[in-house]
Amino acid sequence: MELKLSCPQCKNKQKRVLSWPLGTVVCESCQKPVLEHSTEALLNQKRIDQCPICGAAHLYRRKDFNQRLGILLVVVGVALAYFTYGVSLLIVTLIDFFLVRRVKEVGVCYQCQAEFRNSELVNSLNPFDLELFDYYRNLRERLP
Ligand SMILES: [Zn+2]
Ligand SMILES: [Zn+2]
Repeated sequence: MELKLSCPQCKNKQKRVLSWPLGTVVCESCQKPVLEHSTEALLNQKRIDQCPICGAAHLYRRKDFNQRLGILLVVVGVALAYFTYGVSLLIVTLIDFFLVRRVKEVGVCYQCQAEFRNSELVNSLNPFDLELFDYYRNLRERLP
């Protein structure tokens, strides 16, 4: 599993590759353990039932799709529509469709925004929930 996180201690952003059995993973920069909230289910490679980095009980999955690229595609499609009699719109729609279908899922922690990739475990997470997202955003804003 690929993990993108920012260290809870020193906030250093880093990408780590996890493999099982899961040993102690330390921060690249401050050498402190970063997976202090690993659960039994995660250690047994069964489920991500809470974020191993911050301990939040909620994570979501979404398509690992570059949204800026998606928007750029639409803009180009619309800009060229006049010259191509609309064919460019059709092409853009097709590219979009195939990109989204091929794209894998990424798991994201609502609280610390850690990202989990390339693992079966990601597929069992719940889809994005705006209420939970707002809840955690409010929590973050209240913290000093
Ligand atoms: Zn660190
Ligand atoms: Zn987290």
